[in-house]
Amino acid sequence: MKSIRQWFDNGEASFSAADPDNADTGVDWVRVIPFLLMHLACLTVIFVGFSMTALLTAIVLYLIRMFAITAFYHRYFSHKSFKTSRTVQFVFASIGASATQRGPLWWAAHHRQHHRHADQPADPHSPKQGFLWSHMGWFLSTKHYQADYRLVPDWQRFKELRWLDRYDLMVPLLLAVSLFISGVMLEKYAPGLETNGWQMLVWGYFISTVVLLHATLMINSMAHRIGKKRYQTGDESRNNFVLALITLGEGWHNNHHHYPVSVRQGFYWWEIDISYYVLKMMQKLGLIWDLRSVPLQKRESNKVLPEAGL
Ligand SMILES: [Zn+2]
Ligand SMILES: [Zn+2]
Repeated sequence: MKSIRQWFDNGEASFSAADPDNADTGVDWVRVIPFLLMHLACLTVIFVGFSMTALLTAIVLYLIRMFAITAFYHRYFSHKSFKTSRTVQFVFASIGASATQRGPLWWAAHHRQHHRHADQPADPHSPKQGFLWSHMGWFLSTKHYQADYRLVPDWQRFKELRWLDRYDLMVPLLLAVSLFISGVMLEKYAPGLETNGWQMLVWGYFISTVVLLHATLMINSMAHRIGKKRYQTGDESRNNFVLALITLGEGWHNNHHHYPVSVRQGFYWWEIDISYYVLKMMQKLGLIWDLRSVPLQKRESNKVLPEAGL
């Protein structure tokens, strides 16, 4: 019963919610049923078919939500690499929540734990504990169901963020229902677009979300295994061009472990970092400010091969 309640309500994000001594790395199968169903739902694509409208919706929602995850869940909530207003903070926390990767506090707390103990035994998702564990075993486990909220005292005072964290299925549900309704409306009022409610739901929510989720998770699994090391960071983080493209800039993960508070993760002009470019535009519009970049001296320090400029 408790596991089923946890589908909808994670409880109040409090300092006492997590038990740091909980070592149960087993999967809580009942609790993760929605996660499994989300994957199975993608298979219904054989019944709902394809349209350009549905595909474009899936791509646009992937890009917007990936940006919310990388620029806000990661660079803002986990590392405070820029400042913004409470409204913009909440808007992007909500878009991030629609990515169905739990709430911003849970996400940031686990990520801060990752940086504190990267590739050490206390790292929540090091590939040294197994590739599958680093990709998804960790968040499916009982051990990491609750985050250690002591790591995010700075965000605890925002009740709207605590609400997103507690009821983290609400925004994804709202998105899924909206997509279904918009598909029904399009079928009726714009039949030329050749879509319908079920097709918009499957492409716009399920397929887009599952691809987005695994692309994000690859930073924990692949970006600590495959790629080049520019800096001696004391962990296994790597720079990976392909991952950087897929995740809008997060693939420069070795750079990121070298200097985590930098708003840009591509440290050189040729290291494509789309989230950073969008953040620069948001800065020009006055939506965010006080962006922290990597100091030149820091960028050139502690390299594995200083001459090669890797
Ligand atoms: Zn890492
Ligand atoms: Zn980070």
